[in-house]
Amino acid sequence: MRKKIIAGNWKMNKNLSEGTDLANELSEILTSSSTDVEVILGVPFTHLDKVASISDKFSVSAQNCSAQESGAYTGEISTKMILSTGAKYVILGHSERRAYHQENNADLVKKVDLCLSDNLKVIYCCGELLSERDSGNHFEIVKSQIEEALFHLSAEQISRVVIAYEPVWAIGTGVTASSAQAQEMHAYIRSIFTDKYGVDVPQALSILYGGSCKPSNAQEIFSKEDVDGGLIGGASLNANDFSQIINAF
Ligand code: PEP
Repeated sequence: MRKKIIAGNWKMNKNLSEGTDLANELSEILTSSSTDVEVILGVPFTHLDKVASISDKFSVSAQNCSAQESGAYTGEISTKMILSTGAKYVILGHSERRAYHQENNADLVKKVDLCLSDNLKVIYCCGELLSERDSGNHFEIVKSQIEEALFHLSAEQISRVVIAYEPVWAIGTGVTASSAQAQEMHAYIRSIFTDKYGVDVPQALSILYGGSCKPSNAQEIFSKEDVDGGLIGGASLNANDFSQIINAF
């Protein structure tokens, strides 16, 4: 059975004390309820150590890592540094990093490889622009993002990767993909993994939906067969909203 996962992406929000309060609030809510959903908090680098120490009810993820192992790379954060904080995951290939930091699939290969060799799991983001969907290229774009950054991996390595399908036109816009659009793309993503790896790998692969997911639409989106959870931006900044999304499964 595939793991159900709800991951928050705090992006560049909350100072350390605010982030600690949010994580504490969430920990209390999760302690008083029971869920079979794995909860992950994608927090700023400065918060990893602190938030990871708060609760075993959630895991902690970085939102990026360096493509270099170590050395003279001022301002960069390595996978080994991230691991040493207690973090278990790294979000890679988020559309904001692709757009504002010109991250391409070749950069992402290096980051994916470093994460996996340092025992960090990867939440790999993919998704098309609105213009790409409008011109009917959305399947091709998502396929190339996945093929170019992940298909050099072994089946065992893929078992440590989670996919987040995030149509760029739905991120932070309030416009959500319909559950049918999400299901269609998730099934397609699973099919390209089947073509490459056979049936077992994609059957175990968690594919999350991201893009304006909130308490009011989470249940409908998560009801779809190939949607195994969500990557949640704005709504992860409020403990009540985020826990309602966790409970939407
Ligand atoms: C995201 O940035 O990963 C995201 C899904 O954001 P939002 O939920 O705010 O659209």
